[in-house]
Amino acid sequence: MTNVKTSSLGFPRIGLNREWKKSLEAYWKGNTDRETFLKEMDEQFLAALQTQLDQQIDIIPVSDFTLYDHVLDTAVMFNWIPKRFKDVHDPLDTYFAMARGTKDAVSCEMTKWFNTNYHYIVPEFEKGAQYRVTRNKPLEDYKRAKAALGTETKPVILGLYTFVALAKGYEQQDIKDIYSQMTPLYIQVLKELEQEGGKWVQIDEPALVTASHEEAAAVKEIYQTITEEVPGVNILLQTYFDSVDAYEELISFPVAGIGLDFVHDKGKNFEHLKAHGFPKGKVLAAGILDGRNIWKANLEERLNLTLELIQSAGVDEVWIQPSNSLLHVPVAKHPDEQLADDLLNGLSFAKEKLLELTLLKNGLVSGKAAIQTEIDEAHGHLQALKQYGAATNSAFAEEIDKLTEEDFKRSTTFEERLRIQNESLGLPLLPTTTIGSFPQTAEVRSARQKWRKKEWSDEQYEAFIQKETKKWIDIQEDLGLDVLVHGEFERTDMVEYFGEKLGGFAFTKYAWVQSYGSRCVRPPVIYGDVEFKEPMTVKETVYAQSLTSKKVKGMLTGPVTILNWSFARYDLPRKEIAFQIAQALRKEVEALEKAGIQIIQVDEPALREGLPLKERDWDEYLKWAAEAFRLSTSSVEDTTQIHTHMCYSNFEDIVDTIEDLDADVITIEHSRSHGGFLDYLEQHPYLKGLGLGVYDIHSPRVPSSDEMLTIIEDALKVCPADRFWVNPDCGLKTRQPEETIAALKHMVEAAKQARGKLAQTV
Ligand code: GLN
Ligand code: ZN
Repeated sequence: MTNVKTSSLGFPRIGLNREWKKSLEAYWKGNTDRETFLKEMDEQFLAALQTQLDQQIDIIPVSDFTLYDHVLDTAVMFNWIPKRFKDVHDPLDTYFAMARGTKDAVSCEMTKWFNTNYHYIVPEFEKGAQYRVTRNKPLEDYKRAKAALGTETKPVILGLYTFVALAKGYEQQDIKDIYSQMTPLYIQVLKELEQEGGKWVQIDEPALVTASHEEAAAVKEIYQTITEEVPGVNILLQTYFDSVDAYEELISFPVAGIGLDFVHDKGKNFEHLKAHGFPKGKVLAAGILDGRNIWKANLEERLNLTLELIQSAGVDEVWIQPSNSLLHVPVAKHPDEQLADDLLNGLSFAKEKLLELTLLKNGLVSGKAAIQTEIDEAHGHLQALKQYGAATNSAFAEEIDKLTEEDFKRSTTFEERLRIQNESLGLPLLPTTTIGSFPQTAEVRSARQKWRKKEWSDEQYEAFIQKETKKWIDIQEDLGLDVLVHGEFERTDMVEYFGEKLGGFAFTKYAWVQSYGSRCVRPPVIYGDVEFKEPMTVKETVYAQSLTSKKVKGMLTGPVTILNWSFARYDLPRKEIAFQIAQALRKEVEALEKAGIQIIQVDEPALREGLPLKERDWDEYLKWAAEAFRLSTSSVEDTTQIHTHMCYSNFEDIVDTIEDLDADVITIEHSRSHGGFLDYLEQHPYLKGLGLGVYDIHSPRVPSSDEMLTIIEDALKVCPADRFWVNPDCGLKTRQPEETIAALKHMVEAAKQARGKLAQTV
């Protein structure tokens, strides 16, 4: 008989009512003192544990809870504190300084945690730094949980291999040294835990999913050393977000248990397990519930999968658990959430998922009959959800069926379109434009609040938006920009805005997830077939166009970005959902064109982050991502110019896809890439319209026109001038009006100077 336990890998920190965020922000603003703040944090730490205990989870994680980010915790724990923070003396101040920066020291970089929308703080390696254990946070948390709740817990620690993989500032050849410097520190942390009586630790090594056999063998050595030194603590080596290629290596690690993701592995982990077995004496920690989506589990199917797994593995002990930390889903269904019953019943957030685990355990231990009622109920809810979703757009299937290859491509080649557009648009050389949004000032946000709370009528709000639009059209004209935008004042968020106007999307009031630090987002929920109901941006764009003789660029969010920033339904492949969104956007593009808008930008800032973890899966994703983009943009006339925008560096990775989008112009972030991309372009010329960001919009700093001119001139060495655009890195919504105007003024000057110089050379 296999012993079955339930386990959790991590729980959301933010609290059901975002108490965590509120405590943090109050402390940062100086509205609470440190003592109160730490007390609040302690309460929230314990509350998260209590919620998991209440769902009767057997093995509860600690130390996944953090004051900001778990990767930052690890860095600080091992004294990976960059020199520039040396003047900050207090440990807590240092911690937040690294996350948020100080007057004198820029914050550490933040980037996406694998293929999720959670951002971690990037650890910085500094040669010669003295790494040591500054505090044993897992141990402190373990002790605190025991003292306050009388419960044994399983501390979670980010593993050395993954920690280094996520860090920066070292060369490949430094890695061995880093490992040998850091391994004793891990040993120290674990030894102290051992002395305190800790039985299990969960060491997270998600980076192992992409490790080669050789890499895995090197990691095995680390774990060999650790387990020899600390025999009394059982290590559960946890992987997630995909299958482990080096499966055979992994199961030979001298650890007490191995955690595998059986949800996001495309069936591969199970295949490996069947082919190569699983060591009988080790615990198999099986991720059997999707820890990244928000849908109720099909209990029967999950139960059967687990039974099969148990049978194939033949181990003494199995832990059933979510596929990954529940950090990526909302805390729990909020009692005040107002959604249609059929939708609400189909949802399962962190707390509900843990309850599902407990039910499944019951089914495994006592037999399926013991949970038959719950199985039937889950089945009924999922059926109802499906029907609810299917009702959104009955015409959809028919439309998709009718699509032909022609619908995915423009009828004329780029060069020909360029010629036609140059004539019809009448733009100067090196046209200047912005990426879409202008400052969302406190005034704009408060206007929207008033309207949402019904303190303002629709007319009042609309008049306000028009006033703001007019103000910024005038500003853009004064600045002498060539292609104007309406400013996106009516949008809080580039995905939410479209989701609210399309069928098949729902919005929650309380289902927050952490994005980075104290920032939380409420991703839209795609529950049904996507439906275009009515034009979404035409009114605002046409209004802006009516105010000026310059061209106003229409502004849409692309299908892949809308998909990647939403919780998507589980019963359709992502590709198909992207096509549905694309089909709806295609109608919007057509509506804009029909209303006389000749330049339309379809933003895809999230295209790259959707890349699968394993490179071998990239092509498939990139192919349909580009198809979805083309489906939304290909039906226009040759005279209509399609733009797109993406904002991140390392375009080299996806340059073929960018080409494949067949957009007439792409504007991208560039000012911080330090010329790297230009070197690339020199080798691989990009021949469609290209706008490289000439200034960083993440900082209030206003660069001089000379600085921007240098960027333009450097770019023109490798980019043809007859298709080069001048623009900032990204949208300006987080900037102040004054700095925005000042920077754009310099940008326009820089473009004029560059034009002047070009004229001299011909
Ligand atoms: N058009 C959007 C804006 O300017 C683009 C935002 C983005 O790239 N993230 O705000
Ligand atoms: Zn951007």
